[in-house]
Amino acid sequence: MRRLAGFTAVLLVIVFVVVVVNNLFPTEVSEVHQHADILLVLNGQVMNFSRAEFMSDENRSLNPVTHVHDGNGQVIHTHAAGVTLGAFFTSLNMSIDNGCFVDHTGKRFCGGVRFFVNSEEKGNPMGYVIADLDRLLVMTGPGNPGLWLGRISQDACIYSGKCPERGVPPDEVGCGGADCYFIPG
Ligand SMILES: [Zn+2]
Ligand SMILES: [Zn+2]
Repeated sequence: MRRLAGFTAVLLVIVFVVVVVNNLFPTEVSEVHQHADILLVLNGQVMNFSRAEFMSDENRSLNPVTHVHDGNGQVIHTHAAGVTLGAFFTSLNMSIDNGCFVDHTGKRFCGGVRFFVNSEEKGNPMGYVIADLDRLLVMTGPGNPGLWLGRISQDACIYSGKCPERGVPPDEVGCGGADCYFIPG
């Protein structure tokens, strides 16, 4: 009986160690880690996604699979396949309703929402699945899209390591969320 108790104790210790080690070194690291440049222009005003309230970090993730972090609001990170631009906007309390863009304060920008991916005009941005290196423009109101298209940042390729001649990807430590890991290379 005593031998059985000892055996059980050893088993429990082994199980405990395996569980701890598994949690320290997650084996299911998300394979997907993409970046897209974003510009949102509401009636001529550029939305500043770099504000603290829009940031995700290790303590606060607004959406584990799509967010901005490390103080850069020009680059959206995605950590899963099939993530829509709508999921990003929704995580920031933004939406599109009856042809109006509704910002995080509930203010409505009506008169038509236009959406461009890599300079090509598309339909509703909410259902659009973000792809690596996309340059996204969402705009309302009058104004020349060509002007804004030229103002979209081109940082996604640096973050994705696709343009090494322009710089190395910054360390991403402020990610947060279960599926959120920095994958080197
Ligand atoms: Zn990233
Ligand atoms: Zn992230």
